[in-house]
Amino acid sequence: MPAYVIGGWVRDLILGRPSDDIDIVVAGSGVEVARHVAAKLNKSDKLKVYKNFGTAMLRYGNWQIEFVGARKESYRSSSRKPVVEDGSLDDDMRRRDFTINAMAISLNRKDFGSVSDPFGGIQDIRDRRIRTPLDPDVTYSDDPLRMMRAIRFAAQLDFLVDPASFESIQRQAGRISIVSVERVMDEFNKIMLSPSPGKGIKKLRSSGLLKHFFPELDALYGVEEVDGKAHKDNFFHTLQVLDNVAAKSEDLWLRWAALLHDIAKPATKRFDPQVGWTFYGHEFAGHKMVKGIFRRLKLPMNEKLRYVQKLVLLHLRPIALTENIVTDSAVRRLLFEAGDDIDDLMTLCEADITSGNPEKVKKYLKNFEIVRLKLKEIEEKDRLRNWQPPVTGEDIMEAFGLSPCREVGQIKTAIREAILEGEIANDRLEALRRMEEEGQKLGLTLKKTLN
Ligand code: ATP
Repeated sequence: MPAYVIGGWVRDLILGRPSDDIDIVVAGSGVEVARHVAAKLNKSDKLKVYKNFGTAMLRYGNWQIEFVGARKESYRSSSRKPVVEDGSLDDDMRRRDFTINAMAISLNRKDFGSVSDPFGGIQDIRDRRIRTPLDPDVTYSDDPLRMMRAIRFAAQLDFLVDPASFESIQRQAGRISIVSVERVMDEFNKIMLSPSPGKGIKKLRSSGLLKHFFPELDALYGVEEVDGKAHKDNFFHTLQVLDNVAAKSEDLWLRWAALLHDIAKPATKRFDPQVGWTFYGHEFAGHKMVKGIFRRLKLPMNEKLRYVQKLVLLHLRPIALTENIVTDSAVRRLLFEAGDDIDDLMTLCEADITSGNPEKVKKYLKNFEIVRLKLKEIEEKDRLRNWQPPVTGEDIMEAFGLSPCREVGQIKTAIREAILEGEIANDRLEALRRMEEEGQKLGLTLKKTLN
């Protein structure tokens, strides 16, 4: 049975990108060939057969080798689920998404190693172009996820989407809504992780795809003008911040925080004839929006969500610390609230400087350098990062002979405030003394002296 390496591995070989995922397509039964290969390599125990899909997966060292029979597919317009039949290598190539993914290398004795490139994938790699093997209207309509994939590959490889392809995407962008959110977001997050995600997201907007799955982001686009005063375009600003962060960090969630830091600007926008455009409270309103966005986009509802919420909420705070006179307590409060994410918050704030005036950029960056020094100084002095109260609720109950009640909380808060305000040190003995004073104020009697 003729067999070929096909798809991403061939593309990556030509591009010189290493890859451990090998797809092998067989003109016949992929599973049967997989069994033969596994037996020959003495690795039958590493073979997994997926009967329902007619595929098999073999692990061999770092390689994951997938075997599949060549297929011919036809699609119905209401669904992504194709009607699948057995086909030839040619049929299989025609159902691929892009010319650069529709190349194969023969594994057969008679022409081992020869490349089959029916749609000009190699030339498209040279020209750095994303093009569909068939008429783009057909390829995209058969599977609308390919519209996202076109922009994803363009972002990852720094290629251009062929103009005919891009126009086709613009015509059928709405069909992205029949694709599951998970699959759309898989592609979106690959764009987010690409070297300059901003470029890809601009294409998502101009193709018309973005508004169908991420209307909040799309709404940042545009400029309004009143009395000759215009605000900046928050969409392009956001993408610049995102690219600035991407230049510093590969972390997906820090990139998400950059993407969402101004997400509530459209909702909080006001025009005041005296001061011009304002977006008061957008950091608070934005942090409130994050959860709904994560839920709808099926992003993780765990500590990743809380991290993004926190950075969105705090993204203006370091700016307040750039003023000449800053109290230690303001610095302490930020350290306390940001915890271990303080460095990421500073990265986000520095990335948020997108002024076109190099003098201003220099000045702002210098200010943040000073903030970093202040943070370091207070941090070393007060050890507030991941702060644990030096006196616990249990201590308070024991000292005053209380069961859980409102007063316990009041005393705890008073101690925390005293530490943040710098009235007492972040230290157990001073905290216990303050606890006794606070208890007295509330008319409680000390039952036991703690130390
Ligand atoms: P990456 O490994 O970066 O995610 P890839 O293309 O190498 O990208 P897959 O997404 O697993 O890996 O796809 C493997 C191959 O299957 C592709 O190269 C392409 O030929 C084909 N393919 C994948 N998805 C589609 C699709 N939606 N429509 C048509 N062909 C597809």
